Amino acid sequence: MYCPNCHRDIADASAFCYVCGARQAPVYTPPAPMKRLTRSVTDCKLGGVCGGLAEYWNVDSTIVRLVWVVLVIFPVPLVPAVLGYFIAWIVMPRADVYAPVASSTAVATSAPAHDASAR
Ligand SMILES: [Zn+2]
Repeated sequence: MYCPNCHRDIADASAFCYVCGARQAPVYTPPAPMKRLTRSVTDCKLGGVCGGLAEYWNVDSTIVRLVWVVLVIFPVPLVPAVLGYFIAWIVMPRADVYAPVASSTAVATSAPAHDASAR
């Protein structure tokens, strides 16, 4: 890291320069990508709905399936579990549709070509 005030090299992610004491600009950390509710392609028994819910809630998919089976046996009057499952199957996209795009490291490695021509 480089202090813009005294032009000295200081430790990375320093809040203040330890040579001149100038406040350093905070290091930008990109926000975490939004979590999407998708049907699982790796953890699926029927349509991947329970697996997708388990991945979204970060719980074991067996627990989600057990809760679903209990809801099938003892149906809740407003939302029957079987109908809810098939609605979720139709509405939830497959997980591979929203696969993460390659990270920005490929862009960062191709950038220094411009600096070499400027010097
Ligand atoms: Zn400084």
